[in-house]
Amino acid sequence: MTLFVIAGALLLLGIAAVAVAWPLVQERRAPAAVELAEEALPTADPLVELQAQRDSIYQAIRELRFDFQVGKVSEADYKVFDSTLRGNAAAVLQQIALLKQAEADPALDASLEAEIAALRHVNGSGPGPMTPAAVAVGEAALNFCPKCGQRLQAGNRFCGNCGAQLI
Ligand SMILES: [Zn+2]
Repeated sequence: MTLFVIAGALLLLGIAAVAVAWPLVQERRAPAAVELAEEALPTADPLVELQAQRDSIYQAIRELRFDFQVGKVSEADYKVFDSTLRGNAAAVLQQIALLKQAEADPALDASLEAEIAALRHVNGSGPGPMTPAAVAVGEAALNFCPKCGQRLQAGNRFCGNCGAQLI
């Protein structure tokens, strides 16, 4: 008898906890859902697309760092992947800079140049500088989709995740 009472009380507590926590969970989920909806929208503006590419590369860099920190990626792999991603990001940022220059918007160039410089300066927060040999191996064996950040096999012409055409 006592057991049923305890079980019932625990059940009620559980329901109450979920009821209290649920709005918080929903609140946290909402911005992500909005971001996904925005990403899914097709856009004809190349600048917006480049900025989306840049954001997904940044996201991939963050996820890679997390994978490395929790031990899912070896340090050697991390260095190669991180260097590749930073290279991709720098390339996208340069395209953005060129596009903005073409649109005669010099005010934004300074901040972009700072971003590019920060990305190229791998020594700052990331691992040490790559040896040229390691960079060459990384570029030959690994690449990331510039559109969605998916890891790709060497020689792929299209991204297996989003179908983007690769160089
Ligand atoms: Zn892709």
